[in-house]
Amino acid sequence: MQPIKAGDGVWQITLPTPFAIGPVNVYIIQSEKITLIDAGPKTEEAHQAFVSGLEAIHLTPESIDQIVLTHHHPDHTGLVDYFAGDIPIFAHPHCEPWLAHEPAFIKRYNDYFRDLSVQMGVPAKASDQDPSIEDYLAYSSRASVDHFIQEGDRATGLADWEVLDVPGHASSHIALYRPYDKLLIGGDLLLEKVSSNAILEPPFHDNDLAPRTLLQYRHSLRKCLDIEVDKVLPGHGNIFSGAHGLILERLKQQVKRRHDVLSYFQAEALPVFTIAKEMFSKAYQSQLDLVLSEIQGHIDWLVLRGDIQASIKDGVVYYERTDHLGDGLCPIDV
Ligand SMILES: [Zn+2]
Repeated sequence: MQPIKAGDGVWQITLPTPFAIGPVNVYIIQSEKITLIDAGPKTEEAHQAFVSGLEAIHLTPESIDQIVLTHHHPDHTGLVDYFAGDIPIFAHPHCEPWLAHEPAFIKRYNDYFRDLSVQMGVPAKASDQDPSIEDYLAYSSRASVDHFIQEGDRATGLADWEVLDVPGHASSHIALYRPYDKLLIGGDLLLEKVSSNAILEPPFHDNDLAPRTLLQYRHSLRKCLDIEVDKVLPGHGNIFSGAHGLILERLKQQVKRRHDVLSYFQAEALPVFTIAKEMFSKAYQSQLDLVLSEIQGHIDWLVLRGDIQASIKDGVVYYERTDHLGDGLCPIDV
């Protein structure tokens, strides 16, 4: 596939991935430096497509001065391993343990999801089929972030581009925004045809609480309503305009899903897995991790609103309706 001119000095190159989401987009920004935004999965096919894409715009991998990662997912980071030597990497601090494959982090991740699986009431047989972090990291790179960037920072050589923190789909997620032509390089924050999943993650530090990813995600979407966006250059799918309308639609769909999840709570107290299985009777068999993230996210929201409450029995967390339904007590988001 030929690269697409995505804006002044910005090229989009689309690469194949072995994942259900399909191809991933990476971007080349030609300004004071030549910057690659995101780096595709670590596969030979993606690498070949990347090299041919660069050739079509008269570049080679050696022309790239630096890499910026929008978030840590392997379909956005794996090709970093194909760059020789010390090419500088800019990313959010939360990318580091994923890129570095930090043993303490991997252990915390595995322990967290093992315990969470019990709390959600997932039968051992079902949780065994879930991909492990090791499966996941196979397509990721082994590198280290050289420069941490967060909200308000600008990467060297990208003076026109503001960094925005947009956690939710990943806690490491940033977007790049160029005010003069209102371009937003959004990673997986907002995709035109698919609603991004607010994937559960373990706490970043040992004693932190785990992030409430759906609520973070909603906050990040709303934040983008405060900036004018002409075009979104997404991590998957076509470049699109009309970002504000799409954000409002996504926020509304989430409210609808919250109502749907609540409707499962009648007289009986239920764990997350029971709702996941009933609501996504097919998808839960093949994509259990995403389905559980989806349900847990909405349950976090319902708890915060005061619509449901939790109790623990034999290590499993059960949720049931409260009597102050609809009070909208949630301080973050109603
Ligand atoms: Zn992603």
